[in-house]
Amino acid sequence: MKTIALVAHDGKKSALLDWVSRHQAFFADKQLVATGTTGKLISSALKREVTCLASGPLGGDQQIGAMIAEQKIDWLVFFWDPLSSQPHDPDVKALIRLAVVWNVPVACNQATADFIIHSSLYQQNYQREVPDFAAYKQRFDGKVSGDK
Ligand code: PGA
Repeated sequence: MKTIALVAHDGKKSALLDWVSRHQAFFADKQLVATGTTGKLISSALKREVTCLASGPLGGDQQIGAMIAEQKIDWLVFFWDPLSSQPHDPDVKALIRLAVVWNVPVACNQATADFIIHSSLYQQNYQREVPDFAAYKQRFDGKVSGDK
């Protein structure tokens, strides 16, 4: 079963709720994970279970980032607000960065989310390529003789 992570900044929560409600049927057989407030709102709008992590500014973005690094997230829907600064801006950047590192599809606005949801690749059970970082992990193998 696919797991979708959902996050929306306060200025984008209603946009995400509208979008999720319109595509309720699509989400029926998906597991949903979300930052605290976003998850609570989705759960009550859709009347379904959503795994709610901490609120974004309290660490929720980082929890989703960790799940991405552990290959537990198949798709990130992240409606961040380009018109307001966030106290947890570094976490926002880190979350998007990890999605790119691990080749996880990310939708940061409704149009992109629509494109992904209507992609025929979903019907074909698309398996994204998980990058192999073996060379990166071995970059110091046998090369370091001691720190100075
Ligand atoms: P929230 O967090 O869903 O708890 O509001 C979202 C965010 O700001 O990252």
